[in-house]
Amino acid sequence: MSETIFSKIIRREIPADILYEDDQCLAFRDIDPKAPTHVLIIPKEPIASLAELQEEHQQLAGHLLLTAARLAEELGLDRGYRLITNCGEEGGQSVDHLHFHLMGGRPLSWPPG
Ligand code: C5P
Repeated sequence: MSETIFSKIIRREIPADILYEDDQCLAFRDIDPKAPTHVLIIPKEPIASLAELQEEHQQLAGHLLLTAARLAEELGLDRGYRLITNCGEEGGQSVDHLHFHLMGGRPLSWPPG
């Protein structure tokens, strides 16, 4: 897949407010937050979207979810939060590198627009 701005964030070529990193993933605050807490959790492997996940990614997929849940706890989102991924054009995806939005800190309406 082609390079995205998230690859540059992983390589520290552009700045980001990074909250967590390990060998498989990175979490940083969204540059344009839609909630008081808005963090993106991304794999370091440049997988384009959820639709591109393969069987070989099972461990990674679980790791991303567990990382999100742990971050939510660490960030004090004890009243609840939302974890979403936008997939593809109609899903509202604008960066073609898989990412989960962790959002909280205010009541979140449903359904999203
Ligand atoms: O789901 P979607 O692809 O639209 O989300 C991309 C997200 O990446 C946006 O919320 C945008 O604000 C964020 N972003 C960022 N830092 C950048 C570029 C985009 O946090 N340098």
